[in-house]
Amino acid sequence: LTDLLETNIADFGEYPFLFFKEKTYTNVETKRFAEQFAGGLRNLGISEGDRVIVCMPNCPEVLFAYQGVTRAGAIIVPVMFTLHPKELFYIAHNSGAKAVITSSYVLQNVEKSLEALPERPTIIVTDLPTDKNKLNFYDAMVRVEREFADNVKADDIAVILYTSGTTGNPKGVLLTHKNLFSNAQNSAKHNETERGTTLGVLPLAHVYGLTVSNVCYHTGSAIVVFSSFDVKEVLKAIERYRVRTFSAVPAIIHALVSYPNAADYNTSSLESVGSGSAPLPVALLNAFEQKFGAKVLEGYGLSEAAPVVTAHSKRIEMKPGSVGVPIPGVEIKIVDEMGEVVPVGKVGELVVRGENVTPGYYQNPEETNRVIKDSWLFTGDMARVDDEGYVYIIDRKKDLIIRGGFNVYPRDVEEILNSHEEVLEAAVVGVPDERMGEEMIACVVRKPGSQVAEDELIRFCQDHLAKNKTPRRVIFLEAMPRNGVGKILKTHLRQTASDLVV
Ligand code: ATP
Repeated sequence: LTDLLETNIADFGEYPFLFFKEKTYTNVETKRFAEQFAGGLRNLGISEGDRVIVCMPNCPEVLFAYQGVTRAGAIIVPVMFTLHPKELFYIAHNSGAKAVITSSYVLQNVEKSLEALPERPTIIVTDLPTDKNKLNFYDAMVRVEREFADNVKADDIAVILYTSGTTGNPKGVLLTHKNLFSNAQNSAKHNETERGTTLGVLPLAHVYGLTVSNVCYHTGSAIVVFSSFDVKEVLKAIERYRVRTFSAVPAIIHALVSYPNAADYNTSSLESVGSGSAPLPVALLNAFEQKFGAKVLEGYGLSEAAPVVTAHSKRIEMKPGSVGVPIPGVEIKIVDEMGEVVPVGKVGELVVRGENVTPGYYQNPEETNRVIKDSWLFTGDMARVDDEGYVYIIDRKKDLIIRGGFNVYPRDVEEILNSHEEVLEAAVVGVPDERMGEEMIACVVRKPGSQVAEDELIRFCQDHLAKNKTPRRVIFLEAMPRNGVGKILKTHLRQTASDLVV
């Protein structure tokens, strides 16, 4: 991480690097804040290997803190500010964090979650004055006589990223400086990312958002940081900064497609938008391209791979429904239950190897040995590869529904439901069933004003899918439960579905 900023300044000189509301910071200013904050952390007794939580909505201080923490030799623990105090407590406890950097917006939650800890970490707040309980971020800084970057080694742990726990208790994924550096470099190389201004709409606390900023350092680009996602602000920024490309998730793409007044903004500079972190319905991809005349380049990654594994790029042919091809430096295989490579076109588990792959989970050798075998990372995602090397994510292994002995991947059913003109979005889950082992329940959010009924959607599925892939029931929801990056929380849906369906 430190090398990314060091080489950025050496290669590109001083330039406006970060835009936030009406403020602008250059790359050199970013480094100065980082050095002074690193000095401050050292004064607080925080040094090599100590963990520091950064938990707040996106703001410039998140990036100053990331660079500062690593320069002090410590480890960043990014935490989504939307987390429940219980989850934050779990992470603070599990990581043994010595300090928490936060902002007034989440301070109450943070304080509440730290109450039960045996030792209270130092609380550093970006936008409140220092008092007996907390230290102001800028007050914490000290002028430094020397640079800190040379403290840091490529194989040191830079970040512990707690997975969002959509499938269970959060696990602390260890990522080294080399993991992050190589992934930023190879993602940029894959897409031939040019210098420009991009949008930081994804949470910097998520690995995907973190990588967006890392790619900016690497390519000499600038980033417009948003504290929250607001369609109008995003469109305004595309117009103002003549943005050519930015990274998003399906929920953001969905919001842009649904926004009725997009034509009020000049978005003609936009060439492409990246999409990752969750499946992108093909219908949504097409709708975006039609409305904005820009490509949606879907990619795939996971925290354990720092994160990008495969992606589309402007250099390669677009295949809707696929997540593109492996980026440079990343090898993949599709394997069966025995770990043997399956023939081209067959579905198996996607496994990954490369400089981007995590050394494991924090203080969790059992889980580390379960997912990393012979330096291959077992992703838990089922996928297939076509004869041109394009990868198709079928579903998470854990989401597979075994109905009457037949395997059904929810995504196949979701794609059909999503293509129904009255469906806003759909997610399919399995619930225990005495007769079939598992039954399939579709959770649907209708488009505004729609009254489409359960039997009509079931008939629609029957018309487009094999009989055993038709959901037994459809339940209607006001909105999907989502995590901080807009990913649908299937564990919540499974619970809702089992409670409602008898
Ligand atoms: P947990 O693993 O605890 O549920 P998480 O979902 O937050 O946490 P991440 O590392 O953020 O973990 O997400 C990685 C997962 O997201 C991948 O393993 C995959 O299942 C899913 N994913 C990422 N990109 C795509 C994509 N383009 N299509 C389908 N799934 C995707």
